Amino acid sequence: MRKELNIFSFKDLLEHYPLRHVDKTKVDTIASLNHTTDYAQVAGKLISMQMLGERRSKRLVAHLQDNTGIIELVWFQGINWAEKILTIGQQYLVFGKIGFFMNKPQIAHPELENYTPENAAGKSYLEPIYPSTEKLKARGLNGKAIGKITKELIQKISEKDLPENLPETLLKQYKLMKRFYAFQQIHLPSNEKNYQQALRRLKFEEFFFAQFGIQLIKIKRNKYSKGLLFEKVGDLFNQFYEKELPFKLTNAQKNVLRDIRKDTGSGHQMNRLLQGDVGSGKTMVALLSMLIAADNGFQSVLMAPTEILAQQHLNTITAQLQNLPINIKLLTGSTKTKLRKPILEGCEDGSIHILIGTHAIIEDNVTFKNLGFAVVDEQHKFGVAQRAKLWKKNTIPPHILVMTATPIPRTLALTVYGDLDYSAIDELPPGRKPISTFHRAETSRPQVMDFIKEELLLGRQAYIIYPLIEESSKLDYENLMKGYEEVKSFFPEPKYWISMVHGKQTAEQKETNMKRFVDGDTNILVGTTVIEVGVNVPNASVMVIESSEKFGLSQLHQLRGRVGRGAEKSYCILLTGQKLSADARERIKIMVATNDGFKIAEKDLELRGPGEIEGTKQSGVLAFKLASIVDDKSMLEVARTAVAKILEEDYELLSNENQPLKAYLQSQKGNTRWSKIA
Ligand code: ADP
Ligand code: MG
Repeated sequence: MRKELNIFSFKDLLEHYPLRHVDKTKVDTIASLNHTTDYAQVAGKLISMQMLGERRSKRLVAHLQDNTGIIELVWFQGINWAEKILTIGQQYLVFGKIGFFMNKPQIAHPELENYTPENAAGKSYLEPIYPSTEKLKARGLNGKAIGKITKELIQKISEKDLPENLPETLLKQYKLMKRFYAFQQIHLPSNEKNYQQALRRLKFEEFFFAQFGIQLIKIKRNKYSKGLLFEKVGDLFNQFYEKELPFKLTNAQKNVLRDIRKDTGSGHQMNRLLQGDVGSGKTMVALLSMLIAADNGFQSVLMAPTEILAQQHLNTITAQLQNLPINIKLLTGSTKTKLRKPILEGCEDGSIHILIGTHAIIEDNVTFKNLGFAVVDEQHKFGVAQRAKLWKKNTIPPHILVMTATPIPRTLALTVYGDLDYSAIDELPPGRKPISTFHRAETSRPQVMDFIKEELLLGRQAYIIYPLIEESSKLDYENLMKGYEEVKSFFPEPKYWISMVHGKQTAEQKETNMKRFVDGDTNILVGTTVIEVGVNVPNASVMVIESSEKFGLSQLHQLRGRVGRGAEKSYCILLTGQKLSADARERIKIMVATNDGFKIAEKDLELRGPGEIEGTKQSGVLAFKLASIVDDKSMLEVARTAVAKILEEDYELLSNENQPLKAYLQSQKGNTRWSKIA
């Protein structure tokens, strides 16, 4: 039992919630069963019983008949036991999951009992159906047996065994059922309405305590961790803002900057997640923040996921800061040893003000005179451990800004990255023309190529992307090469030039090919998703994605974000095969319908479920038994606000009101982060 279902204690048993309840006063007729029937209960006479098959395929097959038809009952395990207890000619009440085999209804491993009209009438409550496993079932511990144990347990315990753990006012305010009653009613509901109320209460509790843990970390950090104080906004920032800034900031950018300014001026360490759709101008926010750091005598780092991106950041930022006395250097894995030495020295003696680079930056041999601000770009997977490495780069940890364009729905961000403060840029700079997205079948590839030609004639550039499902997959590379040859036949040299970028190239090859495209020396970039993140070529106006049904939504959105970065109208063409799965069809549909990264993220979450979203699997914070961050989104918000209010008013849980909460957390010691500081 333990291993199979992870049940180790009474508490676990109580939290082994029923899948559903069935009204067992209801007996279905066999004739009424159809392919949409899920679970059903039938009553009838056992008319046959037979052992079939040999060894592994050995099974017991029986038939039960009522006035309307015959249903097959089958056992693959516990055969001998089943054969012993069953009697032909006897009336049985049979319950189970209905399957169809050769178009005939069937129940595998049914629950059954002798049928008398009385025992059917005696069940006037909703009976819980518990999940079990095949192995447990074979040992007689089916859902029904689990139900029996649970029922006994529920009847034995009293309110003091499951004391209330939420403050009274909260229960009143949100009309939540009492905890003990909720456990009773979720297992053995007196009616449907009570069941729903119990469910609501227990879901709320799950969200509440998850949020409590996360937000407490944040509070703890703010209360205990000293941060570097950026006292002023000085000349560097002001000069740049007034004289050099090439455009007006959007309101969203200003708001985020205000958040950052508030944090860095508070004396506490900032750990902030900045979400902003592709092209929303996150880099400028980072740049302005780094200038404030410099104004206060602090160094900054900007970390990118790839060398290409780091290089690109270096180029744009160096150009933008050319009139300011700011020393900027690049450090990546491929920085030559000879160049590396002066860079490391410059970091150590403080003469380098901004260091841009890849993960090479957080290596132990890179030390700073006074690192004050660290930007982590496009790495939503940048975990707590890595952030901690950055913290250690100064005696008082530097402020940290994690930026991502990977759309994460707010609800998910709040759950997974709840220990980070959260800002969003929800507005694009003015003048951007929305990207038009089309879906085309592979058979219309020639027309698509003609369309690219027209755009190239206007002086624009195009991307053609192939899926690379696995870095090592030979087939994917073959497809890429085949595609490349095909593109070349449409666009022959020397009239057209094509560069290709993929993961099997060395960093240098990639860099060179990419650079040719960035500089406008090639018209088309054929590649895999290695170009995905952050690359900025404003002149590119077409993005063609081959086999786009193989990509996830957020990836498609990221790829599309490579175009529409300049003043020209841009296009994204999603090529697919003829046959699409329902999910793939849905993904393509939403891509065609909207450019809004947050909407796409919500849809992605809906389609894939939270567990599949990158970087969340290992975090464990999504392991809710009842609640769903998709379906119960608004409840999550409510729980979050409730927790925030409690922590704000009484973070040590001293008030009378919060005693139930405190007692519960103490009883959970070891399981909760709260215990560590309490
Ligand atoms: P992302 O948020 O995807 O990292 P970038 O920072 O690369 O976006 O910005 C995309 C482009 O938009 C850049 O060329 C940048 O200079 C430009 N940009 C940023 N902010 C503004 C603004 N407020 N007005 C006009 N253009 C802007
Ligand atoms: Mg960017």
